[in-house]
Amino acid sequence: MATRTRTRGTGPPETLPQALRAPLRGWSWIPARDAARLPAEPGAYLLLLRLARARRLSIGAAGERRLEPGWYLYAGSARGPGGLAARVGRHLRGPGRVRWHVDHLRQVMSARGAWVRPGGDSCAALAEIVSAGVGQTVPGIGASDCPNCASHVIRL
Ligand SMILES: [Zn+2]
Repeated sequence: MATRTRTRGTGPPETLPQALRAPLRGWSWIPARDAARLPAEPGAYLLLLRLARARRLSIGAAGERRLEPGWYLYAGSARGPGGLAARVGRHLRGPGRVRWHVDHLRQVMSARGAWVRPGGDSCAALAEIVSAGVGQTVPGIGASDCPNCASHVIRL
């Protein structure tokens, strides 16, 4: 096990809404540069993305969207081989092949890191964040595989 060294600047950006703190209690923040620390267990993750300027983006079957600059969260589940390490690591490195809606977002947004929770539930986390009054969901994005949610993306 590597020694965990806390250095300045590795926490989540301080400009994020304070109201995110309560729903993210119990989640671990992994900055993009520390992807090697991602657990290889199945679980949920909240990928933090940054869009530098407004963009029109074609997002697969969801069609073309205009996205405003700012912070975005994508809530996902990692249940395949390699768990969170494999899935979130892929998002942090950037999409090779564009497969999911989030890959389209990732093409124009930078990934700053992710909150992860082995065994966690991404739909429940999303609902908690929305009910805490943080941000707005981006309808029809990232939820193609989800029977519960109309969106898995929030603009903070
Ligand atoms: Zn869902």
